[in-house]
Order: sequence, then structure tokens, then C-alpha cells
Amino acid sequence: MAIFFSQAKYLTSAFELSQLLPDEGLEIAFAGRSNAGKSSAINCLTRQKGLCKTSKTPGRTQLINFFTIDEQRKLVDLPGYGFAKVPKKMRSHWDKVLSAFLLEREALKGLVIVVDIRRGISDLDQALIEMVGPVLPLHILLTKSDKLSRSAVKAEIMRTEHAVKHAQHTVSSLSTLNRQGLDQLELRCSQWLDMC
Ligand code: GDP
Repeated sequence: MAIFFSQAKYLTSAFELSQLLPDEGLEIAFAGRSNAGKSSAINCLTRQKGLCKTSKTPGRTQLINFFTIDEQRKLVDLPGYGFAKVPKKMRSHWDKVLSAFLLEREALKGLVIVVDIRRGISDLDQALIEMVGPVLPLHILLTKSDKLSRSAVKAEIMRTEHAVKHAQHTVSSLSTLNRQGLDQLELRCSQWLDMC
């Protein structure tokens, strides 16, 4: 399984709906608040340190980035949200592009929402869950789990499962430092991409 994800290669980026790749094959997308650990999670999954630029600067990730795994399968990195500094006009452009992408794209089989385990689900995460949850299976990935004790990680997973309340949606934790939880993330992504 790991070998599949390690084949990921950067393909292209889209800023407008018209720049999206044709709606075909199987895709999974990653979303999350800026700084939640989304780029690190994608790099961990694909075993490539530099595939996704870990974001230090707002604006840098304001693009939909596509990565191919093979001819049929892609990973999609969505722009991080929650940066107060993003101008209003830009934000409303992104809201439109992203909601169209998330709600209408046939190829999209699942959405991973990356959440810093110490912060828990924010209002913005919750809004995304409520918007996309009815039409797409979600996986809430609680990152930076190495920052908490094992029992606190377990408790946070249970609390999040309770908050998400939908049989289609799942929750797991990940540490990109020690790779704890990577198997579960891999399994979920492989199921969506029809790899297993
Ligand atoms: P993004 O903005 O969501 O793409 O977040 P990044 O992947 O750039 O990560 C934000 C910060 O969190 C960086 O300093 C990372 O090194 C750190 N980080 C990400 N994942 C982990 C993790 O699992 N454990 C720890 N301790 N730090 C992490």
C-alpha cells in the first residue's frame, strides 16, 4: 500500500474552476486550518519530505494542488483556511471555488480534514463538516498526536467521533514525527481510492 502513495508526483495547480483537471478517475482531497499539519500529513503519507511545501506564509497555499499517484488516482491539496490576513475578496472567491469543487466533483471520493489535536475541531472545520458531510465521506485526522499522552489522544479521538456523529465519517490520529497512526490514514485513503 505504502508503495502506491510514494509514487505521488506534483501535477498541476488550479486557481479558478476553469483550471481544474477533467473530472475523472478517483481523487481524495485534504483540507484544514492553516498550520494544522496538512502538508506534513501529505508528505508523511507519500514518504516525500518536499512534496507539499509546509506553509510558513499565508497565500502560498491558496491554490488547489493536484498530485498523481497513477493514471487513475490523485491526491488534492486544498488551500488552508483560517488566515485572518487573507483579503475578503480573495476569501469569497475561494469559498465559491472550493464549495463547487467539494460538492460537485464526481471524481472526489473522500475528504480528509486535518485538525491539530490540541486545538480540536474549530468553527471553520465544523462549517466544512456540515457543508460537505452530507455528500462526501470524511476522515478527521487529528495531527500532532505526539504532543499529547496516549490516553489524551484516545480521549480526543472519542470526543471527535462523538462530535462528528455519522457512520460514513471516521476519525484517527497521526504523528508525522513518529508515524504513529499512518497505517490508519493509509487504509482509509486506499479504500477511497479503491486500492484494497
Ligand atoms: P499546514 O499549514 O496545515 O500545511 O501545516 P504544516 O504541515 O506546515 O505544519 C505546521 C507546523 O506543525 C510545522 O511546524 C510542522 O513541523 C508542525 N507539525 C506538523 N505535523 C506535526 C506532527 O505530527 N507533530 C509535531 N510535533 N509537529 C507537527
